[in-house]
Amino acid sequence: MAYDGPYSIDPLVASFLDRAPALFIDGGFVASDGTATIAVHDPSSGKVIAHVPDATPADVDKAVCSADTAFQDGRWRHMRPADRERILMRFAELVVERGEAFAQLETLEQGKGIAISRMFEVGASSEWMRFVAGMTTKITGRTFDTSLPGGPQHWTTYTRREPVGVVAGIAPWNFPMMIGLWKVMPALAAGCSVVLKPSEVTPLTALMLAEMAIQAGVPAGVFNVVTGFGAGAGTALTSHPKVAKISFTGSTATGKAIGRSAMDQMKRLTLELGGKNPAIVLKDADLAKVIPGLMAGGFLNGGQVCAAASRVYVEALLYDDLVGALSAAISGMSVGAGMDANAQVNPLVSAAQQAKVLSYLDDARSQGADLVTGAAVPDQGYFVSPTLVLNPAESLKLTREEVFGPVLGITKVASADEALQRANDSALGLGASLWTSNLDAAMNLTQRMEAGTIWVNAHVFIDPAMPFGGYKQSGIGRDFGVDWLEAYTETKSICISH
Ligand code: NDP
Repeated sequence: MAYDGPYSIDPLVASFLDRAPALFIDGGFVASDGTATIAVHDPSSGKVIAHVPDATPADVDKAVCSADTAFQDGRWRHMRPADRERILMRFAELVVERGEAFAQLETLEQGKGIAISRMFEVGASSEWMRFVAGMTTKITGRTFDTSLPGGPQHWTTYTRREPVGVVAGIAPWNFPMMIGLWKVMPALAAGCSVVLKPSEVTPLTALMLAEMAIQAGVPAGVFNVVTGFGAGAGTALTSHPKVAKISFTGSTATGKAIGRSAMDQMKRLTLELGGKNPAIVLKDADLAKVIPGLMAGGFLNGGQVCAAASRVYVEALLYDDLVGALSAAISGMSVGAGMDANAQVNPLVSAAQQAKVLSYLDDARSQGADLVTGAAVPDQGYFVSPTLVLNPAESLKLTREEVFGPVLGITKVASADEALQRANDSALGLGASLWTSNLDAAMNLTQRMEAGTIWVNAHVFIDPAMPFGGYKQSGIGRDFGVDWLEAYTETKSICISH
């Protein structure tokens, strides 16, 4: 459908929306087997900008079979690693060449600021793409001197790492393009085929990515996209017997459900789940670093970030100054659509997410919590004003649950030990930060904080070289880093007697 919003958009975005996005199976767009569609909304206005198919189980089966055929006949995994690497590097170049179109499409469907789309969804994603593409030529095994009968001179034993098979990638709506690529790229680098199901709220950039992959030279069938709801298409995909591995990012509840059903067929799993991420601010911290750090850590992408700071524990000496500075910062933010490059407070992704975040705030208000609200937001669109909750009581829902919105709890504590105890008192353990200028405290607390990533004097920075994933119920496995492809390969031991 033609775009009729108030912003002038890139011609590639206009033509993409005009073409009525369909499923991407076996190298091209195909119509769904069914007739149901899903409306995609511009979160800044609530207006519909596109419709995508609600894939039926038959559609999902077609996509998985296409991926499986491509895997079995070896059109991708038997290609020379240097050629696969070149194609994946070209894929990254095409994403950069069309960067403005990708950024705009992401902002239109997801709501985030265009600068964030340019910086993360396109800029950072392309760096991740190149990092993983380079791994294609570095997949190795090991050799062993065994103690088998006759001695090692009569045996040659070694391991090979082989692609696991068809990968189901399930991506959420907070960073649809970047997180989608975190599923697709390692799968492709390892030699797997992949079927990606983006969130039904933000399905568009995944479809454009699949088109780019084919243009870059990825063979038909190796990268497929099905759009649909989690309960329908998502379940059909993750339970499909030809899917060997599931890579899921989303809520802990859905991750557990997927994990349980995956065990039936012993599918391989990577789960990147929710966080309730603490930030510990010690009395010797430099507030000139803490304030911008927590503004970014807490409010980037409207707080819709799995590793976002959501619980701040600050030593009493700095409490008043910290609350004063953060209150001033949130009240001075400009509000508007993501396409408005000057707007710092952008809409949340959907009416449902807006309602969910507001319900946490209503619960807090009804229990008499002390709330500091930031800049006023319009009625139209899915906006929520950035909000501080001062010394939130344990009984508030937002104290323990992942809010996934622009809400930062700030609690005054008497000591570093109290901060540590409260920070670790969570079933989740994705990320955590520590703010201090005391090296001894940093060395001590980073070892005792329970999270997959600990930042010191920073929050939410991630890099392809640095493994990322959760302690406790924040997930299973790690993304990124030099061992990333292990999660997309099987180790085969080969033992030759001679
Ligand atoms: P979900 O975890 O339900 O959804 C994440 C993805 O999984 C979506 O693509 C969804 O599809 C899909 N999905 C849902 N159910 C299934 C299933 N049974 N089988 C396969 N795929 C499935 O998150 P929501 O979008 O409902 O968001 C709810 C909350 O989750 C948020 O408020 C936030 O707290 C948290 N969240 C955490 C994220 C993170 O990065 N850790 C990311 C997103 C959300 P569909 O959207 O079509 O239902």
